[in-house]
Amino acid sequence: MIIVTKPEATEEQVQHIIDRILEWGLKAEVSRGALRTVIGVIGSEDVIREKPLTAIPGVESATPVLKPYKLVAREFRGGNASHVKIGDVTVGGPNVVIMSGPCSVESSEQIGSIAKIIGASGAKILRGGAFKPRTSPYSFQGLGVEGLRLLAEARKESGLPVITEIMDTKDLEAVEQYADCLQVGARNMQNFSLLKEVGRSRLPVMLKRGMSATIKDLLMSAEYILSEGNFNVLLCERGIRTFETYTRNTLDLNAVPVLKAETHLPVIVDPTHGIGLREHVLPMALAAVAAGADGIMVEVHNSPELAKSDGEQALLPDEFADLVVRLRKVAEAVGRSV
Ligand code: PEP
Ligand code: MN
Repeated sequence: MIIVTKPEATEEQVQHIIDRILEWGLKAEVSRGALRTVIGVIGSEDVIREKPLTAIPGVESATPVLKPYKLVAREFRGGNASHVKIGDVTVGGPNVVIMSGPCSVESSEQIGSIAKIIGASGAKILRGGAFKPRTSPYSFQGLGVEGLRLLAEARKESGLPVITEIMDTKDLEAVEQYADCLQVGARNMQNFSLLKEVGRSRLPVMLKRGMSATIKDLLMSAEYILSEGNFNVLLCERGIRTFETYTRNTLDLNAVPVLKAETHLPVIVDPTHGIGLREHVLPMALAAVAAGADGIMVEVHNSPELAKSDGEQALLPDEFADLVVRLRKVAEAVGRSV
């Protein structure tokens, strides 16, 4: 249920509305606008429906969210966008945020030098996998906790906050100890136990779209995280499976404007996994920003032929520097900055 206050509602009245909601055993998620305050009421829909919300002084309207996803729905924030902080970087504001780094953390030297390179070119967040979801059990599975430690070391040297994938609830404590943002990968988008667990984390979460998931599936999975109390969620379009096999996946840029309209959560695009071919990552990154993405995630490696995973799609450092320069122009053309 969404409560909108009257423009003339006083601060005392707003507080009184919140107190009433809490008294009834419900939760209140408050978004203050210039003119009105929007209060999302969280709890059992049956209980909420019985309450005389419009009888509380200062309340202008109380409207149920009719969509299957409630907390992630754009109207839950009164039509406003959410800003999510990763370390000291804000995602969802006027700046388009670039996340970059190797697919996997491989060594101290590797992650340290890539962090330095991408930071100097304009990346704001460092990515790197320590727990890797590989199609084959014989492929490199990641360095695990040692990889997390190396990421934290690279953060210290580069000053870039880090995002890394969490694959299993049993690793959450370790990942929380080292990372600034949790990534839930495409293969785990509907791992509901994991979603609930990261929903109780103090860290923001980037949820990647499953390779066969619809936009609605993605939003319902995000709803799991918010319903546990964690509202700091980013959504990531990373390509879906279609009949096309020339590219690794089909980057569904339709999802960007659709998600921006449907949800208040920031939207990130990963053109690297979306297309899977180094020489075509750049135009898809530009297109993502033109389509309204709040950020992009691109893989970069200083020596892709030696990469332990995804070497064929990683940009070289110079290509990444070029991408940032071009991205600035596209961002400017759509009223954003990098
Ligand atoms: C990754 O970011 O390296 C990754 C494994 O992504 P996805 O879950 O989208 O395949
Ligand atoms: Mn990868």
